Amino acid sequence: IDVICDNEAKIISKIHDKDVRLEKAEEIDSIIPGTEKMEHRPVVIGFGPAGIFAALTLARKGYKPIVYERGESVDKRTETVEKFWKSGELNLESNVQFGEGGAGTFSDGKLTTRIKDHRCTFVLDELINAGAPSEIKYESKAHVGTDLLKGVVKNIREEIKRLGGEVHFDSKLEKLSYENGKLKKIIVSGKEIPCEALVLAIGHSSRDTYEMLHKENVSMDAKAFAIGVRIEHPQELINISQYGENHKHPKLQAADYRLTYQSERLKRGIYSFCMCPGGVVVAAASEEGRLVSNGMSYHARDLENANSALVVTISPEDFEGDSPLRGMEFQRHYEELAFKLGGGNYKAPVQLVGDFLKDRISTKLGEVTPSYTAGYEFKELKDCLPSYVIDALKEGIYNFDKKIKGYEREDAVLTGIETRT
Ligand SMILES: Cc1cc2nc3c(=O)[nH]c(=O)nc-3n(C[C@H](O)[C@H](O)[C@H](O)COP(=O)(O)OP(=O)(O)OC[C@H]3O[C@@H](n4cnc5c(N)ncnc54)[C@H](O)[C@@H]3O)c2cc1C
Repeated sequence: IDVICDNEAKIISKIHDKDVRLEKAEEIDSIIPGTEKMEHRPVVIGFGPAGIFAALTLARKGYKPIVYERGESVDKRTETVEKFWKSGELNLESNVQFGEGGAGTFSDGKLTTRIKDHRCTFVLDELINAGAPSEIKYESKAHVGTDLLKGVVKNIREEIKRLGGEVHFDSKLEKLSYENGKLKKIIVSGKEIPCEALVLAIGHSSRDTYEMLHKENVSMDAKAFAIGVRIEHPQELINISQYGENHKHPKLQAADYRLTYQSERLKRGIYSFCMCPGGVVVAAASEEGRLVSNGMSYHARDLENANSALVVTISPEDFEGDSPLRGMEFQRHYEELAFKLGGGNYKAPVQLVGDFLKDRISTKLGEVTPSYTAGYEFKELKDCLPSYVIDALKEGIYNFDKKIKGYEREDAVLTGIETRT
C-alpha cells in the first residue's frame, strides 16, 4: 500500500517497523527524446505485450508509430485458433503464438514478472484503463484470463490509433535494408517501407524472423530456457493441499502453486511454470509438423483440472554447435519427435504419472481427463524428450509429492511437450 501524506520523512523516523518505509518517488516519464528530427514515423514489429506498450508509449509521446503484426486481429485470430484446435489445420502466420495480443492472448493472463520496476505500475494502470479488473492493482498473484484479455488488447489498439498511430495485421517483417550501415527501409509482406527507427518486439517463437535477422548480422546470443511437459491434477487436490479443511470456503478461489527443486545428482533445476488453476492445456504450435503445449484459464478459473508446466533447465552447453540459434534447433528437434509420437494432426502424446514413473505406456485414464485442446494418444514421453529431462522430471515429481500430497498420484496426466518457456 502506498500512502501519501505531509512530512513523510518525519513520520517514518518515528515508526520502527521494517515493513514501513519511505518510497522514493521514481521518475516514471524517464524517456529522453532525441535531438534530430526524424524523417519517418517509428515502426514497431509485433503486437504482443512488448510491442503494445512500446507503441502506446510512442503514441502518447506524439510519435504516431506504425505497428506491423504478422498475425490476425484478435477476433479473427480466435476463430483461426479454435479451428486449429478442432481440425489440426495450422495457420503459420496466425496461431497461439502469433497475432494481436502476442503469445499470451490464449493464456491465464497471469501478470507475472520477476522484476521490480516502477513501470510495472504504469502497465497495470493501462490494463485497467483498457478494461482489466481493478483488483489487479493490489492482488499479489493477479490474473486477467483469456476472455477478458482479448477486450483489453483491442481497447489499447484503439487508443494507439486514436493518438494517430497505425496498427496493421497480416503484415510480416521480411527483410531489413541498410545504407552506409544505417537502417533505411524494411520489407513488410513484400512492401518497401522507409524506416530509420525500428522496435523489434517479436517474442520467442518467430523462428523464421530470427533466421532472417541472423543472416542480416543482427547481434544475438543463445539463451538458457527449459523444456518438459504439462501436468494436470484435479483442481480439488490442489485446493485441499493449499487451503486444508477450509478448501470449500466460497471466498476462496481455485488455488495455485509454485514448486522448485534442484537435483544435486543431475545438476539441473526442475520447476513448475505458468500454473493455470481451473484451466485448460492448449495446443500452441506455430510451425508445421512440430508440437507444443501450453496452458490457459478463463477469468473464472472454474474448470475441473489444475495444470502447470513441469520443466527442466537447459543451458546453451546442452546444444550442439556454436550458432546463437542452436537452442531453436534443439527445440525444433524435440517438437518434431512429439508431433510424430502423437500420430500427426497435432494430437499430443499423453502418459499418466504412475506409468511415467514405471516406464510403461498408459492404457486407460483414471479420474483425470486430459484437457489438451487438439486430442491425444497414449505414448511414452521418453520417446520425445532427452533422457536427462525424463530422469529430472521423475526426481522432481517424487520431490513435489512431499510438498503437495498426491502430486505423484497414479492418474495425474502428463501431456507432451512444453518447449517455449
Ligand atoms: C499459451 C501461453 C500462455 C501463457 N501464459 C502466460 C501467463 O499467464 N502469464 C505470463 O506472464 N506469461 C504467459 N505466457 C508467456 C507470455 O505470453 C510471453 O512472455 C509474452 O507474450 C512475451 O511478450 P512479447 O511481446 O515479448 O512477445 P510475444 O507475445 O511473443 O509477441 C510477439 C509478436 O510479434 C509478432 N511477430 C513476430 N515476428 C514478426 C514479424 N516478422 N513480423 C511481424 N510480426 C511479428 C508475433 O506474431 C507476436 O504477436 C504464455 C505464453 C503462451 C504461449
